[in-house]
Amino acid sequence: MLPWLEHRWTGLGLLVMTLGALILFFFGFFPLKYHTGKLAHMDDLPNFIDDISIDGHQVYNSGENSVILMVIDGLRYDFASEQYMPFVGQLLKNKSACIHVSVAEPPTVTMPRIKAMMTGSVSTFADVALNFGAPAVKGDSVLRVARSRGLRTVMYGDDTWLRLFPGLWVEYDGTTSFYVTDYTEVDNNVTRHLDKILAPDETKKPNFDFLVLHYLGLDHIGHLEGARSPKIAPKLIEMDNVVKKIYTAMQKWDRTGVLFICGDHGMRDAGGHGGATPAEVLVPLVVIKSKNFVCPHPVGPGPTVAQVDVAPTIAWLLNAPLPGESTGRILPSLLPDDIRQHLYLLHVVASHNAKLPGLPTDREFYKQFKRAVEHFALYLVTNSRGPATTAKEFYEESLEEMTKYLTETTVSFDMFAIAIGLFLLYALTTALLCVTLYSLQPENQRKLSNTHTHRRSSLGSIIAFVIMLAIVTFILTVSCFITETKSQVCSFDSLWSLVFMSIAIAFTMSYFIIKSGVEKTQELSSLKYLNIIDYLLIGGTLFHAWSFFGTSFIEEEHMTWYFLWNTLMFFLLIRTIVVVVMYLNKRLVGATEVQEKSELHERMCIVGVGILPKWILLIGLHRYLRTMNQTGDRWLFLPDTADWLNNPENSFYLQAHLVIGILLTMAICLYNLRHLNNIMQMQSALTVVATALILIYRISTKALYTPIEEMKTWDTVIIVNIIWGLLAAQFIFEVLSYTGVLKIINFDPSVKYNNKFVYNKPKAKTEDYHYDPIIEEPWNLEEVKLNLARSLSHLLLNHLMLIIILLMRPHNVIMVPSVYITCMLTSKLMDHKLLDNKPGKRTEVVDTLSQTLVHLWIGFLFFFYQGNSNSLASVDLGSGYVGLREYSPVSVALRMGLHAYAGPTLAGATLFCSVATQAQTWQQYLQSVWRVTNIYALHRAYCVTIYCIIAAIFRHHLYVWTVFSPKLLYDFVATVFSIQALLTIAEIIIFTSFASWLAKTVTFKTKL
Ligand SMILES: [Zn+2]
Ligand SMILES: [Zn+2]
Repeated sequence: MLPWLEHRWTGLGLLVMTLGALILFFFGFFPLKYHTGKLAHMDDLPNFIDDISIDGHQVYNSGENSVILMVIDGLRYDFASEQYMPFVGQLLKNKSACIHVSVAEPPTVTMPRIKAMMTGSVSTFADVALNFGAPAVKGDSVLRVARSRGLRTVMYGDDTWLRLFPGLWVEYDGTTSFYVTDYTEVDNNVTRHLDKILAPDETKKPNFDFLVLHYLGLDHIGHLEGARSPKIAPKLIEMDNVVKKIYTAMQKWDRTGVLFICGDHGMRDAGGHGGATPAEVLVPLVVIKSKNFVCPHPVGPGPTVAQVDVAPTIAWLLNAPLPGESTGRILPSLLPDDIRQHLYLLHVVASHNAKLPGLPTDREFYKQFKRAVEHFALYLVTNSRGPATTAKEFYEESLEEMTKYLTETTVSFDMFAIAIGLFLLYALTTALLCVTLYSLQPENQRKLSNTHTHRRSSLGSIIAFVIMLAIVTFILTVSCFITETKSQVCSFDSLWSLVFMSIAIAFTMSYFIIKSGVEKTQELSSLKYLNIIDYLLIGGTLFHAWSFFGTSFIEEEHMTWYFLWNTLMFFLLIRTIVVVVMYLNKRLVGATEVQEKSELHERMCIVGVGILPKWILLIGLHRYLRTMNQTGDRWLFLPDTADWLNNPENSFYLQAHLVIGILLTMAICLYNLRHLNNIMQMQSALTVVATALILIYRISTKALYTPIEEMKTWDTVIIVNIIWGLLAAQFIFEVLSYTGVLKIINFDPSVKYNNKFVYNKPKAKTEDYHYDPIIEEPWNLEEVKLNLARSLSHLLLNHLMLIIILLMRPHNVIMVPSVYITCMLTSKLMDHKLLDNKPGKRTEVVDTLSQTLVHLWIGFLFFFYQGNSNSLASVDLGSGYVGLREYSPVSVALRMGLHAYAGPTLAGATLFCSVATQAQTWQQYLQSVWRVTNIYALHRAYCVTIYCIIAAIFRHHLYVWTVFSPKLLYDFVATVFSIQALLTIAEIIIFTSFASWLAKTVTFKTKL
């Protein structure tokens, strides 16, 4: 199967298969929750306590209530204090309200939290990934039981509720939660309905039974400005006034109004949420009743409850049965004083939980529950306090343990899918290793080893493939039966059979690639030129993937990268010093040969004058950029340069950063234009106009000062659309100048300048009969192809830089030119010809290897400089909405992805530009692209494989959902982006070849 090994895009293909294997692994690792689909009914209420009859319906009755659930998105515990919300604080002080510390299970993002509050059951991690899609809840929920009782349910606010519970609302008005830059409209949209809905009718009956209000403004402020923003306090006062309004209205009703105020999740100081820090997990749950209520708890922080407790509590208050899958309890502070009812409610919750699937009956908590039932029955017979107190105690103890058990054991892994996924990842990575090593052989060596062996006929290959495929399928099928797995991979229904066959094919292909790779890779002599710095790069890359065995290494991954980068810089310095010392030494001894002397002198000059200042600049840049954003988990709270810059007092420095960043980017773009076709005035003009528009965009978003007031009101969406237009125009213009269309309309600057894309006259046929495709081709087609590839790569880099400075936060814009400068300087510093003492070696292969690795490192470095981490909380939602008027999932996801992976993207683009620039011929370019693609793909597959192994080992770890799983999602996105990057390069090459073919068929036919 040599063609596979030799093919330029085999690496890319294998990476796509790696993504498939990763998805298979995810399928086993993130099981979607299994729903029993049990729907609760009033008749489920027990009518007997240990043979003693009791009227369930009558005892369960909570009286006439209208319940309001006011969710303030991102309300963390410390916000519900007198300092921020004076009215609520006052109610808490005089015990008319009760506060609880409610614990939200990670992932702390909105959709799973709403689900937990309404279904009463904890959702799995897979819910996060589906957060954007928000599928409807299929199981039971408070809304379902309320509607089944014919109650009026009303919702104003976040439309996630409507997507989760479609058709369960009598009245609603949803606001989209994805437009994060809006702080006020989202909330006014909710508040404007209040007067109408809170006013009772003539009989003083309110217009609803269950009202949900979901306020989004606070969360949006948190995302964009953090929890210490000056906008937080006024927003909380606004919320406090809403509470006051509801409280006043509730007093006029004929029934009891119960108001719950809670956050769905908290927020970190730096803004954002999703992780498991106390600031994200702990939210307040305030209960206010309009009548006959004194909070039983002492004034203070309040007891700790679970977020899932909201569901059974509201269900009971609405006189509806507990939702079928709820695992929570009724809030103790709301339980009635009447002992009979109190005990009955405890019994209802406990017996409901005891009947849930998966709860063992041989545990202590179950026995405790049985004992509680006996004492309750005793109380019903004797009516004495003793058994009642004991029963209450026993019920509470068993409930506590049951809830704990139910939340901890909801996850079951599909081990078969995980194992197959891991094996497949391993096989694919090995295949990629073979492909990469094969491509790293020197070219002539490769040709030599191929001519020695005879190629098998294609029919033979197909037969071999089919036989191997049959064997693999057989092994897989047998392992399905031997392990007796219940995995869906082995279910053999129509869709899964396809998956099953794809797995078998992937295994077979990797087998053949590995087999031919091992046979053909005999000569790796070029790798013997690796120097100490290359070994550091390879070793560091290999080690880094294994470092994730410690959770701290995942949370603080940036530290690993900063350490590796410092080590690399140290090694470079040592290497430079060694070269200098060597030179001085030779000079003292007196170099004999004149030739050597002059060459040494030249190298000394380059090292002394050229390298040292570059090295100092790099170290300085690193020192500065790493202080820009604190990231990770442990030291996140420490102030950083970004905090300082965003302080209103220092706005001058922030603006200076922004302007310098933008102007430097423009300078780099203009510098890159030299690789484009010679019609540079037009391209430069377009670049300058685009940059000017970016500055105007920054002015209209109020990030930059302007004396002209009017500019502040300009429409940002139109500005961004014009920028898209300009970038598209640059590309089209470049392609047109290549095709020669411009010549037809008499616009041909190549008359004046040397057009890189003009086909030269045929050369005279050489007399050399030696077979060489380059000489045989009389036209300079190859050269033009290379020029086009160069120009397209640089145009792509320019566009990426301009788009990213549009997306970045003002203080981070400086990162964009810094990536480019770091890449350029590092490549110069690592030049093998300068640092190795013996000249005259063939170092292209090792150069390619070390360049690729170092660009990967730079990408990761800037990923963390920018403030990213492996926690979902550091994803910047704000960047997703630049230049958008309406929410569109694809556009938002693309912007957010490009913003988060700006560092790796730019480093990768710069690498491909330098590959195109350094190549002398088209063949050499293809060769380098092939090697770089393989190394890139190998690196990604290697990281994914090792991390999946680690995640599988730690699947029962306490932090599996909070630390290990988010990193898996990051790896997934990184893999998708790597495929995208390699596809783009493939597209450039295909486009170039296509253009060349077109030119050949159209132009030459006429001329020859
Ligand atoms: Zn939320
Ligand atoms: Zn949020």
